[in-house]
Amino acid sequence: MVVQAVRVNEREVLERFESRTRASARMYREASKVAPGGVMAGIKYFNPYPIFMKRAEGSRVWDVDGNEYVDYLMSYGALVLGHGHRVVKEAVESLLDTMGTTVFGTPTEAELRFGATLRDLYHPGGLMRFTNSGLEATLLSVRLARAYTGRSKVAKFEGHYHGAVDRLLFSYSPDSKRAGDPEAPTPIADSDDVDRSMLSEAVVLPFNDWENTEKILTKEGKDLACVIVEPFEEGVIPGELGFMRSLRNLTRDLKIPLIYDEVKTGFRVRLGGATEFYAITPDIACLGKIIGGGLPIGAVVGDANILAQLEPSREGKAGVFHSGTFNGNPLSVSVGMATVNALRQPGAFDILRKRTDDLKRAISSELSVRDIPHRVMGEGGMFNVYLTPNPVRCYRDITNTDLRLRRFLDLELITNGVYLKPANRYCLSTAHTAEDIRATTEKFSRSLDVLTSQAAS
Ligand code: PMP
Repeated sequence: MVVQAVRVNEREVLERFESRTRASARMYREASKVAPGGVMAGIKYFNPYPIFMKRAEGSRVWDVDGNEYVDYLMSYGALVLGHGHRVVKEAVESLLDTMGTTVFGTPTEAELRFGATLRDLYHPGGLMRFTNSGLEATLLSVRLARAYTGRSKVAKFEGHYHGAVDRLLFSYSPDSKRAGDPEAPTPIADSDDVDRSMLSEAVVLPFNDWENTEKILTKEGKDLACVIVEPFEEGVIPGELGFMRSLRNLTRDLKIPLIYDEVKTGFRVRLGGATEFYAITPDIACLGKIIGGGLPIGAVVGDANILAQLEPSREGKAGVFHSGTFNGNPLSVSVGMATVNALRQPGAFDILRKRTDDLKRAISSELSVRDIPHRVMGEGGMFNVYLTPNPVRCYRDITNTDLRLRRFLDLELITNGVYLKPANRYCLSTAHTAEDIRATTEKFSRSLDVLTSQAAS
C-alpha cells in the first residue's frame, strides 16, 4: 500500500510548469509530428511534455524558454565532469587537428590505450571490446555467454534494465499484479515485439532475496547461459554484500558466467564501479555512459577465455562474430580517456562524492522536517529519493513508494530551476559546486513549501 504524505494540487503544479515552458510546449507539438512522442528515445518523454534544452555549461543547462537550471540529469549520468569540461573540449579539438579526421575504420593507438585502461580497472588480465552504446555491450555480453556455455536461457533480476533488446527486455517494469509471486517472478515482456520464444528462455530472479534466488538458480542452472545483474538496482539500490557474494559463489560453482551491468555504476559508484565497491569480480562487466565522456560508447570487459571467442582469426573454429563501423571510434575513445584521466586525478572523485553526500543529507533533512517519509539511496556520485516509510531493497518495494508525489515534486523543482527527469535519479558531476548544492537545497525547500501549502489549502 502506498502511503501518501501530501495530497498535491496537480492542476496548479502543471499550470506553473506550463507557464514557464511555453517554447518547449510549442517545440514538443512540432516534434510530435516528426518523431513518435516528440522524442528520439522513450526515456526522454515525460508528462505533460519534455523540456527542450539548448545550451549548457558546467553544472547548468538552459532551455529554449531561456530558463536556467542546476542539472542533475547529466545526460542520464553520462557526464561526470559536467557540461563542456575543458579536457573534453581540448580532446575533441586536438583530435581533429592531429588526426585530421573523425574516424579511420582501422585500429588506433587511442582505442588500444583506453581499452587497456578499462581492462586494467575492471578485469585485470582479461580482454575487452568497445561497442557504441550500453545496450550493444549488454547484448554482446549475453551472446558471448551463450556461445561459451552452449546454453540458451538468460537470467536477470526483476526491475533491472539492460537496454532495449528483446533478449533482455522483460520484467524491467512489470505490472506487479501480473508479475506473479515476488519470490519467483513470472517473466513479463516489457515491449510488444518480445516474442514467446524469448520469454520461454527468460528467467526472472528476486533481487536481494538470496533464499529464492538460490532456489531458482539451482533449478535452472544447467540451462542458464548467464546471470546478468545491475549491482545497484536503478543504479542506487545496492545488492546486499552477502547477497552479492553468494551470487558470485553459486554462479561460479554452477559455471554460469556472471555479468555485472555497470553502465550506470561504472566510474560513478566508485572509479572501478560496483566491481570495486564489492571487491567481487564478475566474469564480464558492461560499461557505457561515463566512459564516452559525453559521446556514444559502450564496452565489454571480462574473462579472457570468454572474450577470446571474438578473435576474428580463428579460422575454421567456432567463434562469436561481432562488428560495428564505429566501434572504438577515435572521438569517443579519446574523449572517454580524457574524462577518465580527469576523474582519476587526486581529489576529483572525492569532490563528486562530497557534493553528492551533501545534497543527499540536505534533501533528507528538508523532507524530514515536513514529516515526509523517505529513503535516500545511492553511492558515489548518484542517488535517488524514494517516498516511503519502508525499506527499499527491490523492484516490488519501489512500486509501493509514492511515485505520484515524487513526479509532481520533480515538476515543481523544474519550475524552480532544478532539472532532473521526473522520478529519475540524481546524477552529479565534478562541476557541481557547494553553491549549487546550497541553491538546490533552497529550491527544493521552496518546492516542498508550495506543494504542502497547497495541500493544506
Ligand atoms: N544498462 C543499464 C544499467 C543502463 O542504465 C542503460 C541505459 N540507461 C543501458 C544498459 C543501455 O545503455 P544505452 O542507453 O547506452 O544503450
